Amino acid sequence: MTKYEYIWLDGFKPEPSLRSKVKVTEGEAPDWSFDGSSTKQAEGGSSDCLLLPVQMYDNPTTDGALVMCQVQTGEHETHPSNERAAAAEIVTDEWWFGFEQEYFFTDLEGEPLGWDKGVPRAQGDYYCGVGSNNVVGREIADAHLDACLDAGIELTGTNAEVALGQWEYQCLGKGIKAGDDLWVSRYLLHKVAEEFGVSVNIHPKPKTGDWNGSGMHTNFSNEEMRSSGTEELFTSMCEKLGKVHAEGIASYGSDNDMRLTGLHETQSIDQFSFGVSDRGASIRIPIYTLEHNWNGYLEDRRPASNADPYKIIAHIVGTLTA
Ligand code: MG
Repeated sequence: MTKYEYIWLDGFKPEPSLRSKVKVTEGEAPDWSFDGSSTKQAEGGSSDCLLLPVQMYDNPTTDGALVMCQVQTGEHETHPSNERAAAAEIVTDEWWFGFEQEYFFTDLEGEPLGWDKGVPRAQGDYYCGVGSNNVVGREIADAHLDACLDAGIELTGTNAEVALGQWEYQCLGKGIKAGDDLWVSRYLLHKVAEEFGVSVNIHPKPKTGDWNGSGMHTNFSNEEMRSSGTEELFTSMCEKLGKVHAEGIASYGSDNDMRLTGLHETQSIDQFSFGVSDRGASIRIPIYTLEHNWNGYLEDRRPASNADPYKIIAHIVGTLTA
């Protein structure tokens, strides 16, 4: 018998939440069903929705597997909440995505860790900091890194972020699996934090005022960008994305206007710009790309920490292959 932990996205708006349940069975992980009336995905009178396995991972906390699923209606049609299906149709494995997921650890009241004794001193010491007065939650971030690596998800790094209690990890993947990996890495983040009695907040601006928000900078490339790039290629890609800036913002997470203010290393939400090494731009052309004779990648700095990676993938690939 094998323990399969099925994971899917519900029908909550503007962003879906993660759901899971466990099936113990012999053989391969089969298609399964759930009560869609409890997840805003069906009416009570006809409530069955279907779970179709799309990606398998080792389960880092027990024997068995994590099973990332996409959702269909009871009539075997793509469910309206299923953003993966559209992205999977247009993205190929030559597209690589490196998501920089930022987030806060919070207590069970929702207050960021380290903030329970009042507002902490101003930002400056916390980014990549060390010492109990500068960082909080490292043991959880470290446990999450190990859990993802054990699952077979390629996290390429972690760091303490600019605000106290704020962290980042970087998640690299190819094709549609990049989106699956990011969602499962978030699932594991919530689950690992449970063990510490801690919650995770991926809202783009948990604390208003002079505090950094949370983003999900999205680094991306395709084969041409990596191996036969030119300045003209990279510039034209930035210009194409700029022409559909408003559609991009619509795909890049809710409440992002609270974060993209022009301050705290962001461009204003209603402006589009790109530039070499420019962390105040919408899209940064990394110095790496220049120094490798225009072979490399781009960094879209607009996506919010709560964005759906499937929608990001669909927007970028859809725009650049149109
Ligand atoms: Mg960061």
